[in-house]
Amino acid sequence: MRKFKTESKKLLDLMINSIYTNREIFLRELISNASDAVDKLYFKSLTDKSIELSKDELAIQVSFDKDARTVTVSDSGIGMTKDELDRNLGTIAHSDSMAFKMENDEVQGDDVDIIGQFGVGFYSSFMVGKSVRVVSKAYGSDEAWAWESDGVEGYTIEPAERAEHGTDVIITLKDNTDEDSYDGYLSEYGLKDLVKRYSNYVRYPIRMEVTKSRELPKPEDAGDDYVPQFENYQELDTVNSMIPIWKRRKSEVDQEEYNEFYKTDFHDFADPARTISVHAEGALSYDALLFVPSRAPFDLYSRDYQKGLALYSSNVLIMEKCEELLPDYYNFVHGVVDSQDLQLNISRETLQHNSQLRAIAKKIEKKITSDLEDMRDNDREGYEAFFENFGRGLKYGIYASYGSQKDTLADLLLYYSAKQDKLVTLAEYFEAMPEDQPAIYYAAGDSVERLNKMPIVKTVLGKGYDVLLCTQDVDEFCFTAMRDYGANEDGEGAKELKNVASGDLDFATEDEKKEAEEATKENEDLFKALKDALGNEVTKVAVSARLTDAPACVTTEGPVSLEMERVLSKGPEGPDGVKSQRVLELNAKHPVFDTLKAAHEAGDNDKIRLYADLLYNQALLVEGMPIDDPVAFAQNVAKLM
Ligand code: ADP
Ligand code: MG
Repeated sequence: MRKFKTESKKLLDLMINSIYTNREIFLRELISNASDAVDKLYFKSLTDKSIELSKDELAIQVSFDKDARTVTVSDSGIGMTKDELDRNLGTIAHSDSMAFKMENDEVQGDDVDIIGQFGVGFYSSFMVGKSVRVVSKAYGSDEAWAWESDGVEGYTIEPAERAEHGTDVIITLKDNTDEDSYDGYLSEYGLKDLVKRYSNYVRYPIRMEVTKSRELPKPEDAGDDYVPQFENYQELDTVNSMIPIWKRRKSEVDQEEYNEFYKTDFHDFADPARTISVHAEGALSYDALLFVPSRAPFDLYSRDYQKGLALYSSNVLIMEKCEELLPDYYNFVHGVVDSQDLQLNISRETLQHNSQLRAIAKKIEKKITSDLEDMRDNDREGYEAFFENFGRGLKYGIYASYGSQKDTLADLLLYYSAKQDKLVTLAEYFEAMPEDQPAIYYAAGDSVERLNKMPIVKTVLGKGYDVLLCTQDVDEFCFTAMRDYGANEDGEGAKELKNVASGDLDFATEDEKKEAEEATKENEDLFKALKDALGNEVTKVAVSARLTDAPACVTTEGPVSLEMERVLSKGPEGPDGVKSQRVLELNAKHPVFDTLKAAHEAGDNDKIRLYADLLYNQALLVEGMPIDDPVAFAQNVAKLM
């Protein structure tokens, strides 16, 4: 018996037990080796015209024998001589394939696509096998050799029989234990599933005997009540789809093919809304095929939702969901990235250097952004449907990044315009603004209808300014994070994003402001009485410079608006969490104000308390805020009547 080369024993043990977390990848590794072997022979045939290969020779076969408990991967590739068996399989971490790749660098990727590089993949077969036998006949040689090992001490190499060039790797599976069963590898379904999962896009056909069913011929004497009879039979079938659809140019692929691929591989029953195909060459080359679903998966906003793109290297699956390839706000995108340039770690389960991955992720993000922009500009209807599904995540992206992503995302947002009665982008709003408009106005609440009826919204519209009506919880947080919009390239000219119901709107002319101030001063006593009546509910009562028709409204000072308070009260801190600083604004020109004044002058404090309560609560109702004590409110209304 030959011993594994120095230190190999320890290394082998280490390898088998610690490199891979997932033992089923042994099949991926063996198929990759088979593909490399076929590739090498094919490459030889390109330069040596005396080699003629039939299509059948460029294939891989996977089979199993239930009784013998073996799984076999066969190829009709280049094969190995006795020496090569010794060198390649007797030395762990020796990769002939890597050397081949280096020597033939100029053809890699087009004509051939060598996968091997670390010289360890083969040994992953010992994760599932108690012994492995490799029978190989090198191309052009007339002798075959068998390498055999139990993966512990060493291996033997002996003469063997094989009709044609190529290699069989025969794994005798370990015995089942209480914890581990290996029987899954002894089933058509189990093996097919693994081939499809990891090796679906290996460039050579991977064949398997599969069970099929066919109808038996109808007997001549069959009566009217004849029921069709079926029989099972075995047939050699190609299990992998080979040509990675993402490597093909978009012009060569039917949308129908893309749709099928999307639906099968990403488990959706609807066609994708967008298909993005990317082929990058140069310092970092990769192919990517991305899909924007046409509807949001039900669990998109749940904690369990996992974003990510499938990552392939040389047509072999490395990771099913590589998170780093997508920013959170594009978490709805599905797809595949394939790059030969990735430095994989030895198990091929992860990557060694994330800088390449980050560079690809950046490019991909840009691609998605520009595709969405394209849809926004050229297919508005489609974009509105997209936005309905995924807009919330984009807004959240701005909020969660404290506004740092606003350059990427702000122009993808849509809001309901009160003036134009349709969805608009911020750019469209900005474009349509009158010269003198001081800020971008929005109102936040639970429905467009209600917001449209808000007195303050009417006031702003009356000024000739549009108001964006925001109805999603995240809206105001997003705007607060953005602060402003519309800066030019020099960073100038941006307009503040302003909630019409908080802070100073700065609308009133100097005269109007003065008037309001004077009216506030004049009625200081009245306001004090009203404030006392409302207690801690409000921080201030003042004359409004923003009301036209309504008698009163509730606005806020400081960073928290009424809408934010409403949203936050649904959060973990509950209704006692963040509070806004409320201001009761009164319309000094409204007849109600005269009634208030009269009551105050008459010294009727009971009336003042009643009025204060009514005005405050009805203003809250108008803004869609809950009132503290609806029963008391109803009683007060009744009292007045
Ligand atoms: P890697 O594929 O990373 O090179 P492996 O441990 O998977 O490492 O395989 C080691 C070497 O054994 C390969 O580089 C290749 O030269 C040889 N080899 C493995 N399987 C085959 C095969 N089916 N046909 C021909 N050569 C093979
Ligand atoms: Mg390999």
